[in-house]
Amino acid sequence: STTGLAGRAVVVTGAGSGIGRAAALRFAAEGAKVLLADLNGEAAEAAAREITEAGGTAVTVAGDLSDQAVVDQVVATAVERFGSLDVLVNNAGIMDRMSAAGETEDAEWERVVRVNLTAPFLLTRAALPHLLATGKGAIVFTASEASLRGSAAGAAYTASKHGVAGLTKSVAVMYREKGLRANAIAPGGTATNIQVDADREAHGPAVLGSYMRNVGSPAQAEEQAAAIVFLASDAASNINGVILPVDGGWAAV
Ligand code: NAD
Repeated sequence: STTGLAGRAVVVTGAGSGIGRAAALRFAAEGAKVLLADLNGEAAEAAAREITEAGGTAVTVAGDLSDQAVVDQVVATAVERFGSLDVLVNNAGIMDRMSAAGETEDAEWERVVRVNLTAPFLLTRAALPHLLATGKGAIVFTASEASLRGSAAGAAYTASKHGVAGLTKSVAVMYREKGLRANAIAPGGTATNIQVDADREAHGPAVLGSYMRNVGSPAQAEEQAAAIVFLASDAASNINGVILPVDGGWAAV
């Protein structure tokens, strides 16, 4: 394998479902040791069992990653169980209600920004000393089409995912001399379990209209996972600070 991921210690957040789950399974198939973190502990356990039953190494941490104590537990568990932390995949995220700024309530704004942007920041900060210690650490963020345009979601999600793109680039620039790479995928519509609020149908298409049109049919989570694993791997050794659309061409429109 040219990925260089065999034996590496990888943390994947949101690993109980969708893109994160597919990424965790793919890292394990490359021989990496995987820590699966998710709010839904049972879902993370089920994915971890799939890895261990196939002969891989997996541990789980259940909890809300917007909580500093859970973040610290994730990093401590990875280092204790695996001896290092080589790759961090900041993937967990939630959708907003497709609300325009004027209709966005404090609670929606604060929760979406906290989970989608602050939690990845907290985990990045906590993991950095360990990622730097390896001399070739990598962080991959799951950004979004909403990191690139204003027509893919509501105000809170769009702002949070533009923030993720900014965090990706800042980390890429600030730590490049230390051998750490930070990149992001920007998925277009992808078939997962992400919660689509009932209000979304009312808010989103009504206001956004034809802008909501995606190119082609939804991607599979495995197509996003393949790009995450590539960006984390030695095959991407000179790729840093990139926001990679994985969207069948939507970003080109
Ligand atoms: P998903 O709902 O299938 O999986 C997300 C997982 O994250 C769930 O298991 C959930 O329990 C977990 N999670 C949510 N909040 C958490 C928290 N606070 N702490 C810990 N775990 C938490 O959704 P998905 O589509 O696989 O989403 C993964 C990422 O992809 C998200 O960041 C999302 O914004 C992004 N994304 C998805 C799409 C899409 O169309 N599905 C498009 C662009 C970007």
